Amino acid sequence: MHIELTDHLRCPREHPEAFLVLLPDRMDQRRVIAGHLGCPICGWSTTWTDGVPDFGEGWRAEGAPAFDAIAAHAMLGIDGPGGWIALVGNAAALVTAITALLPGVGFVAVNPPATVSPTSNVSVLLSGAWPFKAHSMRGVILGDDASQWRAAAVATTLPGLRTIGSGEPPAGEHIQLLGNAGGVWVVAGRG
Ligand SMILES: [Zn+2]
Repeated sequence: MHIELTDHLRCPREHPEAFLVLLPDRMDQRRVIAGHLGCPICGWSTTWTDGVPDFGEGWRAEGAPAFDAIAAHAMLGIDGPGGWIALVGNAAALVTAITALLPGVGFVAVNPPATVSPTSNVSVLLSGAWPFKAHSMRGVILGDDASQWRAAAVATTLPGLRTIGSGEPPAGEHIQLLGNAGGVWVVAGRG
């Protein structure tokens, strides 16, 4: 994972979100190939040696989402460098194509297909619990195998920025539905 992603990660256990402490063991430029992440609140920790932190109970997705990378880019409504975009579950099958459309943006693939490996601008995480802090991402793209995280995903985007998914769109007073067609929805958080 990219070292700067650390600031956007939260402990996977259920308690008010807290920062995690990173102890890198081996780096390749800005990537942490081997390291240790720990929670100062509850003592949770994980250690990895293959570039991919495993927060526990994650999975490797199969298949592909109900939209392609060009559609996802258009629905995100993002241009310009900086910040982070998360692709979760089988939506992470699009990560290589989307990085080409959004140079200078950091990407995180959570529980991606086994074909997705970490690169200089794609971090890979495995987790059974939502791993991001609130308001930490410029956008979230959810696969149809990650619909349990619809509300968490919207809370993770910065106010006004977008979450994309398929199936039933998330609803709530803090969620604005921007589009819902062909089984694919786009929402924004109201902040
Ligand atoms: Zn914790």
